[in-house]
Amino acid sequence: MSEDNFFDDLHAETLAVRAGQVRSQFNEHAEALYLTSSFVFNSAAEAAARFSGEVPGNVYSRFTNPTVAVFQDRLAALEGAEACVATASGMSAIMSLVMALCSQGDHIVASSGVFGATQQLLGGIMPRFGIDTSFVAQSELSEWQAALRPNTRLLFLETPGNPLTGIADIAALAAIAHAHGALLVVDNCFCTPILQQPLKLGADLVVHSATKYLDGQGRVLGGAVVGPKKLTDEVFKFLRTAGPTLSAFNAWVLQKGLETLSIRMHAQSAAALELARWLEAHPKVLRVFYPGLPSHPQHELALRQQKSGGAIVSFEVKGGRAEAWKVVDNCRLLSITANLGDVKTTLTHPATTTHGRLSPEQRAAAGIEESLLRVAVGLEAVADLQEDLARGLALI
Ligand SMILES: *Cc1c(COP(=O)(O)O)cnc(C)c1O
Repeated sequence: MSEDNFFDDLHAETLAVRAGQVRSQFNEHAEALYLTSSFVFNSAAEAAARFSGEVPGNVYSRFTNPTVAVFQDRLAALEGAEACVATASGMSAIMSLVMALCSQGDHIVASSGVFGATQQLLGGIMPRFGIDTSFVAQSELSEWQAALRPNTRLLFLETPGNPLTGIADIAALAAIAHAHGALLVVDNCFCTPILQQPLKLGADLVVHSATKYLDGQGRVLGGAVVGPKKLTDEVFKFLRTAGPTLSAFNAWVLQKGLETLSIRMHAQSAAALELARWLEAHPKVLRVFYPGLPSHPQHELALRQQKSGGAIVSFEVKGGRAEAWKVVDNCRLLSITANLGDVKTTLTHPATTTHGRLSPEQRAAAGIEESLLRVAVGLEAVADLQEDLARGLALI
């Protein structure tokens, strides 16, 4: 990025295609892909200076790589952040953040509906290293407050939540965290910086599964931790030693993904709103969960902290599992898969897939019914998506 403040005043659409690019001696227009594990030095003295960190520059791609740097700088610009460190996957971003910022004896408060692997990492693996997590209802500020302990180091949340699209109040939770001397971490996977900028609302760090919307075309895995350099530097120190860094190839695919992020997010979110309205009016649909609908219990809050409702719509059909499966099995266009964030629309039955390992009691407590379906809306024509869902709905 140039050294003056030129980039500071540009809009997200522009940053998504321009931020972070550095041209080589060939002056290429598209970003180059540097598939190299290591870098050479012009002299023993230069090698020594680079290794000691006295002179900045690339040494080895577990530490830094120019293609990864373009992706990092572009995503940092989009989140309005000082810095970004990229990781091999969303989970390695969350793992690296916890390993870098927490120590034995520390405590985390997280929302109970977080991504399954995140729950397993925080609730199942980290306690073996003396880092415990309390899970609380995402939207209940009093539960977050009550769960704080003197040793609470992080508050961790996703908003909108999966699959019921509950909203957590980022600004209010940032205030609760800061009054306690803790950090607020937001997994911004569902909205991306195009629809929500948690750092501007007071969050300390953002994590991403770049695998989802940042790629947008279901090709590669990746992740990122974004925020002030003081904190991302700590994550970087862990990452360069422990090794779950992003590959240069994946970074190159992901920075191409960022170039269309704004246009995709706005289009997919608009399509989701149209589909949600249609579902809400359908006689075989009991309930629709979508933050962009006035019927959503936190519609006002969603409008305040998001630019639009996002591209995830969940709904309950009238009936139970058999009726929900009828809709799934009669789709010819929608992909039956648990993935999301793709330009191809995906359809999931959470109770028997993503949330299948919960006990029936846990599922009931989380509000995940057998009749629930989740649609991650892509870029197909909404009329075609409606027709695909209508086929199964007509059989209920
Ligand atoms: C997919 C996902 C993750 C994990 O990301 P991976 O890239 O699969 O490791 C974390 N958080 C959320 C909200 C996700 O959807």
